[in-house]
Order: sequence, then C-alpha cells, then structure tokens
Amino acid sequence: MVALSERVEQKLVDIFQDNVRTDRVERKMYSFDVGALPGLVKPFLPVGIPGGVVRPKNGQQIGKLVKLANEENVKLVPRGMSTSGFGGVLPEEGAIVVDLSSMNKVLSMDKHNLTVTVEAGIIWEQLQRQLKKEGLDLILYPSSLPSSTVGGLLAQGGTGFGGYEYGVFKENVLEAKVILPDGEMKAFSGTELQLYIADMEGITGIITEITMKVRKLEAEIHRLISFPDNQSIEAALSAIYEAKLPIWSLTFLNPESMKLKKKLPHRHGHAYEEKKRRPEPELPETFVLLVAYPESRHEAIDAGLKKIIVQHYGLELSKEAAEHEWEERFRPMRFKRIGPSIIPTEVVVPLKSLASVLSEIDSKIKHSFVLEGMAAKGNKVILLGFIPHDERTFAFNMAFALSLSVIEIAKKHGGSAYATGLYFRREAKSVFGQERYEKIKSYKAEIDPKGLFNPNKVLGSGIIDTVMGTASTLEPLIRPFANAATAPFGEAVREGKKKGIPGDVAYYATACSRCGYCVSTCEQFAGRGWESQSPRGKYHYLREVIAGREKFNPDTVSNFLLCTTCEVCNTRCQLDIPVEHNWMDLRGTLIHEEKRMTFPPFEMMAASLRGERNIWAGKKEKRADWVPEDIKAKLKDKGEVLYFAGCTASFVNTDVAEATVRLLDQAGVDFTYMGGDEACCGIPMKVSGKWDVFEEIFEHNVSEAKKRGAKTIVTSCPACGLVWKELYAELAAKKGIEYDFEVKHYSEVAAEALKEGKLTFDHEVNKRITFHDSCHAGRAQGIYEPPRDLLKAVPGVDYVEMEHNREEGYCCGSVLTLIGETPVAPKLGGMRLQEAVDVKADTVVALCPCCQVQLRDSNQKNKLGLEVTDLARFVMEGLGYKIKDQSDYSIEMWGYFEKFIVLMKPEVLADIMASLFKPMMENMPAGMVPMMKAMKHTPGGLNMMSKMMPTLMPKLVPDIMPLVMPDMLAEVSRRVGPLPDDMEELMPDLLPKTMDALMPNMLPLIIPHITPRMIEYIKAEL
Ligand SMILES: Cc1cc2nc3c(=O)[nH]c(=O)nc-3n(C[C@H](O)[C@H](O)[C@H](O)COP(=O)(O)OP(=O)(O)OC[C@H]3O[C@@H](n4cnc5c(N)ncnc54)[C@H](O)[C@@H]3O)c2cc1C
Ligand code: SF4
Ligand code: SF4
Repeated sequence: MVALSERVEQKLVDIFQDNVRTDRVERKMYSFDVGALPGLVKPFLPVGIPGGVVRPKNGQQIGKLVKLANEENVKLVPRGMSTSGFGGVLPEEGAIVVDLSSMNKVLSMDKHNLTVTVEAGIIWEQLQRQLKKEGLDLILYPSSLPSSTVGGLLAQGGTGFGGYEYGVFKENVLEAKVILPDGEMKAFSGTELQLYIADMEGITGIITEITMKVRKLEAEIHRLISFPDNQSIEAALSAIYEAKLPIWSLTFLNPESMKLKKKLPHRHGHAYEEKKRRPEPELPETFVLLVAYPESRHEAIDAGLKKIIVQHYGLELSKEAAEHEWEERFRPMRFKRIGPSIIPTEVVVPLKSLASVLSEIDSKIKHSFVLEGMAAKGNKVILLGFIPHDERTFAFNMAFALSLSVIEIAKKHGGSAYATGLYFRREAKSVFGQERYEKIKSYKAEIDPKGLFNPNKVLGSGIIDTVMGTASTLEPLIRPFANAATAPFGEAVREGKKKGIPGDVAYYATACSRCGYCVSTCEQFAGRGWESQSPRGKYHYLREVIAGREKFNPDTVSNFLLCTTCEVCNTRCQLDIPVEHNWMDLRGTLIHEEKRMTFPPFEMMAASLRGERNIWAGKKEKRADWVPEDIKAKLKDKGEVLYFAGCTASFVNTDVAEATVRLLDQAGVDFTYMGGDEACCGIPMKVSGKWDVFEEIFEHNVSEAKKRGAKTIVTSCPACGLVWKELYAELAAKKGIEYDFEVKHYSEVAAEALKEGKLTFDHEVNKRITFHDSCHAGRAQGIYEPPRDLLKAVPGVDYVEMEHNREEGYCCGSVLTLIGETPVAPKLGGMRLQEAVDVKADTVVALCPCCQVQLRDSNQKNKLGLEVTDLARFVMEGLGYKIKDQSDYSIEMWGYFEKFIVLMKPEVLADIMASLFKPMMENMPAGMVPMMKAMKHTPGGLNMMSKMMPTLMPKLVPDIMPLVMPDMLAEVSRRVGPLPDDMEELMPDLLPKTMDALMPNMLPLIIPHITPRMIEYIKAEL
C-alpha cells in the first residue's frame, strides 16, 4: 500500500484539519464501488488503495488541494457516494480520494424560474425532501435516489425516473461550477458543459455546484400494465412515443424479475416486522410496465394509454399493485440477497430494436437474467441487467463474460454500453461518438497534461482494455462456457464461521450491494462522516477480514460496538439485510466468545450489576425507594400484570417510574412489582457483548416474574420491553425454558384505557410539544401511535411533529455513543433536538429514560433551551398530578458516570498508574526493584527495560493491583471528586472487580503510555 509522504499529509491537515484520513482501514473503505469484478480480472486493474481521503467543505479547499496535487504530483479521484459500478470512482494506488458528500447544501431556489442551485455532493433524496417543502420536485432522479449525489449523476452521465420526459440529466443542468486541474474555478454551461464536463467522471474537473431545472410538485398517478412478450412491450412503448402521451416516467421489468422477486426473503428483524408486513399483491410473471405522470395530465393520457394497452395485448393491474411496484422502485439490486452476487450489465438500445435485443438475450443467455428497462427521451431504452451468481465460486469468473455478451448484442442492434468508467473505456468511442471522443481527448490533454484528475478513467488504454477487448472478440467462443458456469442461488442456511465471523454475517458481507442507502442515515456515520463508521463500510471491512487481509484490533472492534442499535439501517437496506442484528451477533463473537475488550465503563456496570443488580452503582435494597406510599399499598404480591421499572427509572429518572405506576393505577390496572428483587433487564450487557452476565440476569428476572405469576410484563423503558419481548424469548427458546409472557409498553396499556374511556384527561397543559420516537419502541417494536394518542388527548396541548418521525425518526444518539465516544453524543442529540427547535416546540416528550438522559445532556451542551420531559409524567399533568421533575438529578448522575468514562481511557489509566509508582515499587516481587536499579546503571539497560515492559507488565500487574488498590481508590476519588454516598461506599468493591476484568485487554493499550514514565521514574527515584 502506497502511503502519502509526511509532508503531503501535513499539507492536507493544514487545508482540511480533521477532515483527512490516512489510516490503512479508512483508506480501504474508499477503494470500492458497487461493481464486483471476477478475481481473475482484478489483477489487471490499474487501481488500488488510496493514500488518503479528504472531505472538502467548499470549493476553496478543493482549489488548494488541486494546487497541492500539482506541487506534489499526487493524483485526485473525485467521489460522490460511490454508487456507480463502472470503476470510475476506484482510486489509483496512492491517490487522494476527494469525498464530496460533505458539500451537500441547497444554495438557492428560484420558484419562479423553477431552478435550484446545489452543492454537488447533495444526495438526491435529501434534495427532493427540501424541494418538496417548498412545493417543488425533481424533474428526474436515478433509482439510486436514496444514496447517490447530484454531482455524481452529472459526472457519470446518467438519467432515471423522469428520463422519458426529460432525457438525460445533463440536458437539464443550466450551469456547473467546476475546479479545473490548474486549481481555478470555472462555470460551464450549454454545449461546453455537455461536451467537457458531463459524462467525464471527473477527469476534466471536480464539480462543486450545479444549477438545475426543477418542476412544481404535483400529486402523481402510478399505473402498472402487464405485457405478454418482447414484441408487445416494444410495440406498446413505441405507440406511447408515437402518440406523444405526456407521461413523465416509463420503466419496466422482465418476466424473470417478476418470477425471482417472489423468491426473495422478507425483511428480517424483530417480531413486529412480521406483523406489519403488508400482504404483497399477486403479480404476473410477465413484462410489467410502470407508468408515472402528474395527476393534472390524467385526461390527456388515460384514453390514449388504454387504447395502446388493448392494442398490444396489455392488461392493466390493480392500483394496489401499481403502488407496490412504485414503492419498490429503488430496489433494483435486491436480487443480490439470493446471489449473494450479481453480474451486472447496462446498455442503451434504440427502442426499435428492443424486442430483437430482448429475444437475442433470451436465446444467448441461459442463466436467470433479471432486467429493468428505462425509456428515455429520443426513442432510446436503457437496459440494466443482473445475473444472480456467486462471486465466491470459480464459475463467477466465467459467467461474468455474459455481461460482455449483452454489450455485444446491444452494439449489434445499434446500441452501446451505458457508460465508460474504467471497465468500458475501450467503448468510449461508441458511447460518445467519434467526434466528441476526439474533442474530449484533446481537451483532457490540454487542461490536465500531468494526468492528475481521476487517472485511467473514460479515456486511455491498458492491460484491462486488452483483457476486456479479447474477451469481447472471443465472446461467441466463451459464451457456452459462461452459460455452463452456473452457481446455485437462493437463501440457504449458513452455519459455521468464516475467519471467525458468523456464517450469516459473512454471507451478508458478500451480499451487501454497496448501494450506500444505509450510509448517510446511519446514526453512527452521521456523528463522524467516515465510511468505516457506516454499515456499508463495515461490511467491506468484514470482507477484508474474510479474505485474510485484515484482522480485528481494538479500534475496529469499537467500530462495531459504537453502533447505537437504532435500526435505521434495517429499514433502509434495499436487500432487507438485518444489519443491526448482524452487529449484535458480532458483539457476541468478538467480546463474549473471543474475550476482546468492550468499552471499559461496561465492566464497571457489569460489576455493579452482578453485585447490586443495577448499572448505576446504587444499592439493591434501595431499588424500590421511588414507589410512592399510596401505590405501595395497592401493589399485589402476585398478579398477572407485572410492572418492570428498569434501572434508570428506578435510580435516576424516578419520575418516569412514579408517573408510570400512577398512570397504570388511574387506568384501573392491577399490577405486581418485583421491588428490590428486580434486576436490570440486561440490555447494557447484551450490547456490550457481555453475554454471560446477560444470561445470568435473564435467569434471575424470568424466575422472579414467574414466582409472581406474571403473564404480562409492562415496562417504562422500551429497551427493557425489547429485551423481554425478543431477547429473553430468544434465549429461553435456545435454553428450552418455558417462556410465555406478553410484553407491553405502558403507553400501549394507557392508550387502550383511553380508547375504552377509562382515562379522561381533564387538566389543561398549555404547551407546544413534540414527541421523540425512541428507536427501541419505534423501529424495534412498532410502537408509534399509542404515545401520540395519549399526548393529543391532553387538553391545551399544541402537538407538532418533528421532520423525521416514526420509522424515519432520528435516534437520540445515546448509550453506546455516550459511553464509547462521549464527545460525539451531544452532536447527535443536538441533531435530534434541532428538529424540535425548527418546529418551534418548547417541550420534547420522550418515553425512554435513557433517551431522556441523553437529550437533557445534549440540550444543555448545545444550549437549546428546550424542556425535555417524560411521557408518563407529562400525561399525568393532564390528569392533575404534578410529579417532581428529575432532570437536574439525572444530569448530575450522568455527570458522575461521565467522569468514570473519562477515567477509563488508556491514557488516563496510565496517568493514574503513574501516580502509583511508589506503592507499586513497594509491592513489587522480591528482586524486581534491585533489578531495575541495576538496569539504570547498565549502559543501554533502561532501553532494554522499556522493551521488556510489554512482557513484564502483564505478569506483574495482576498481583500488584490488589495491593495498591487502596492508593488507587484514593487517586480515583481525588480525580472524580465526591460521589453520592452509596456509590462511594460501593467503590471499594466495584473498582477492583472492574480492574480485574479490564486489565487483560487494557494493559497493551496502557503500556505505550506508561513505559516512558516508568523509565523516567526509575531514572529519577530509584
Ligand atoms: C441501486 C442503484 C440504482 C441506480 N440507478 C441508476 C439510475 O437510475 N440511473 C443512473 O444513471 N445510474 C444509476 N445508478 C448508478 C449510480 O447511482 C449513478 O451513476 C450515480 O449518479 C452515481 O452517483 P454517485 O454520487 O454515487 O457518484 P460516484 O459513484 O461516487 O461517482 C461516479 C463518477 O463520477 C465521478 N464524480 C463523482 N462526483 C463528482 C464530482 N462532484 N465532480 C467530478 N466527478 C465526480 C467519480 O469519480 C466517478 O467517476 C444506480 C446505482 C445503484 C447502486
Ligand atoms: S443500527 Fe443505527 S447506528 Fe447502528 S449501523 Fe444501523 S443505522 Fe448505524
Ligand atoms: S447494507 Fe444494504 S443498504 Fe447498506 S450498502 Fe449494503 S445493500 Fe446497500
């Protein structure tokens, strides 16, 4: 791997500060696109691992970068979201990848002239969202709308939905600002833009801003029509073109697509996913044409379209089927789920040859061939084909040649490859036409004589072109072998492990299409902005591990632990991969099985949990102290309904527990409670990978619940609910334990009571409020409406929704971020709360005690001035109860926690240990101190000593640590200041247990910090 020189690295830091990465793992994350070439071809590709990645914020930074590239002769590779598949975004070894996705602002909108100016890195979906708020809409968009950038489509030369009316995207761009290879910015428009910037994949300049046409937002009509064969679909499309029906978008799927779709498994996930799955409409295994147009054009289209349908043996399918297919339009790569690979091919063909092309494909390609067509302006059709296959087999190398067969078929019928990129640059003349090709060549030679901008793309030739050229020439000879090279596909059981990675997870790592739908919306990614923190990046990392090119280290393990478990990825993935569940499985593998280090504060929680059954270092006998006297009197020893309060509501946000039991009481629910016998539900142990502790807790809680005759568990905390509903149930099934509990959140119970008239809110609460959907209640359990029903029933309430709500709701950014990377947490919490500010809410209501801790902390740190309150507490006000707000107390308790998080960082622990050198020396085994003294006086002795430290320390520390524990406790206490009484009392028990659990993994991280200080100590004090 070629690394950048220190000088270049420093210059990059000067320009981009923290927005530069040069570490090996991150660089690898920027070395792929959606294409997967066969192993036999890869060695011929002039690509590799970049030397660095930068994330510019503006054109000035890019200008400076280009000047640096000229001075240092470094190559630059622009990158949008890397959703293209022609190799255009793959970096040359050692080049700098310019990730433009941070340049994502809408700069201006002109509603009168229907134009918008945006930064090039904006994702289509985000732009559309902003346009819709202003009553505007995109004129066209690619089916990669959830992830690809506007600049990427112009540079790649694409089109998409709406292409029938508006053609290719470049024809709708009025101006593009571009940084040229000399570092200067130039605005391109008209012919110059279409000639030298569009389709050029960054070889002539880096696009920074785009002014483009938009249209007025209108309701849309979607229709689905089935056609029996190749001839009828071509004839129907031709008739539509001829009749000039003012349709906006025309796309179709072939019969094989319709057939294979039925074999795709449904979204994995928690049980509620199964329940909420809509019945799929029955769809025929024929060609289906999806038609979309604005409602206002219906009259102008309807009669003509109906006539064409009849004339060409079509059959209009139900409205429900049309809406279903419309919703599915962003999932063209979903077949990868059963591949786990696909062989892609993309061509443009004249409409008049469509039937012939399809027939020839049918006769020449014997594999399952899934095809999606997009009708484009100018009587052209873009065909995107996929052959499901398995890149892990040798047969993939052979079968891949079929992608070239399709290009050859298209060319024979007057068509061409869709784009050039790296793989098809030898097709450049047929893609651009001879005249434009010559102009581009001389322009490139003139403006980029050093070839710094995106080398090897679009133009040029090399071994890969010879390989592809030979394969194309020999296509008729290769085809029979390619057709014979089959691989079984379909989702099979995947047991065992691959390089230590659970079989299921390893399969999904290959299946992930790298479409990037899960990237920008991932909470972990949003807080940091680097691919390694996104699901797509993590799957790529796992592929590297499976290939034996990477091994887990504490940093990469942390990348998996840092996932907030928000489950947004599960809802975004076009393959319906259970992404979050995969990371949970990996926690089990990496921490529980392989005993790698989890986030250190979890060790203290585990110690507190094992001793006191809670994570807040409170005393178990005080767990039920929050229960109000009047409620205590009503609590049953046994009962069918059991209220499970959880740790945070029992020890910190006690208003949550108090308000919940009062609400249940008012709703007429009789319930029992475990009191001091209740233990933490265990979710912190599950997410930290400490599954042995989780199992102990499971057994304890389940047996306590059974003792009390519980049939329904009602929780305050949605994570406790998720644990009882899903995780305990799974564990019980695994262990063969009888487990028959219904689990409900109190808001579900109270909303039912409200509906039945058992609850009446009669006190006004005059506030403008909004509701934060907790991920564990919402996406994980589907509880969206009950809390809203309750809030809206309170008189005086002015209820508003935040922009992202329900399934799309932002995560609060809590627990794992707070514990694993504390400074990022207020950034994420701030993002969530800013949406409350935007809708002018004064109060944010949340139902999860942990979200409340995080949102209060973020509210304070971001100085947003909002009130964050609990759902039950809030609705109790509507019943006339004022329950004491615990915000200040929860912030105070979190403050102690935060101090311990800081304390357990390797460099801080090293600092603490350095302050203990004296007692450590006093407790060294006999002979050690004299040996150190001798080393001090031996030439080179201390140098040798420092080399011995990694071996010596792990041997010495376990014995010395207990002996110096009183000093350590004193030092810790000095650093964290006074603690709450119970915590203070428990610390002598908790700290040694924490250190015992921590040291085996932590010592290697501490040693580099402590060694120089130990050597100094020996020099000065011994
Ligand atoms: C699920 C799926 C569906 C798709 N559907 C369509 C479709 O309907 N229509 C279609 O045309 N394509 C489609 N594509 C392909 C791809 O999404 C598009 O080509 C998209 O426009 C690429 O955008 P990007 O931001 O990901 O660009 P990238 O893939 O990052 O880059 C594409 C090329 O442009 C260059 N580049 C990127 N940004 C800039 C810039 N600002 N300045 C200069 N050069 C730049 C890169 O170097 C690269 O060569 C699809 C892909 C997927 C995965
Ligand atoms: S669960 Fe949330 S934070 Fe974790 S990978 Fe998925 S989207 Fe990212
Ligand atoms: S995990 Fe799913 S959404 Fe994310 S890149 Fe892979 S296929 Fe796309």
